[in-house]
Amino acid sequence: MNSSSNKIPREREESLCPCKSRRSYSDCCMPYHHGKSKPPTAEKLMRSRYSAYFFRLIDYLIETTHPETRKSDLRRELEDSIHYYNWAGLEILSTSKGQKEDKRGKVEFEVICFFENERQELYEHSRFKRYKGAWKYLDAKG
Ligand SMILES: [Zn+2]
Repeated sequence: MNSSSNKIPREREESLCPCKSRRSYSDCCMPYHHGKSKPPTAEKLMRSRYSAYFFRLIDYLIETTHPETRKSDLRRELEDSIHYYNWAGLEILSTSKGQKEDKRGKVEFEVICFFENERQELYEHSRFKRYKGAWKYLDAKG
């Protein structure tokens, strides 16, 4: 268990997961954040990264970024920016591959967030690639 996941209040575990799966956090992204299991599909990894942004779990965001594209100053970048954002919604628009038998996958999604109280809608088409068997975020196609 990494130190950042300990900051989530216990009562949060039974409320709905921030990734909008309509499942409880403990039954959705929490086991991934706690390192108890790995997301089986690229979409689940993407959702767990969204809720990691929501809870500001910097260690998880770094760990789930593919080593090929992980910048050396990613931690500092996240530490500098993550507290300015509040996450308010996620909608998965499409997925391609990224299933249990795949090595790569893509997820197209939209998020709603607030940056210094200003509402923003962000669109991203992310690419995911396995590393040592686990799904990792590779990059954004834009
Ligand atoms: Zn979730």
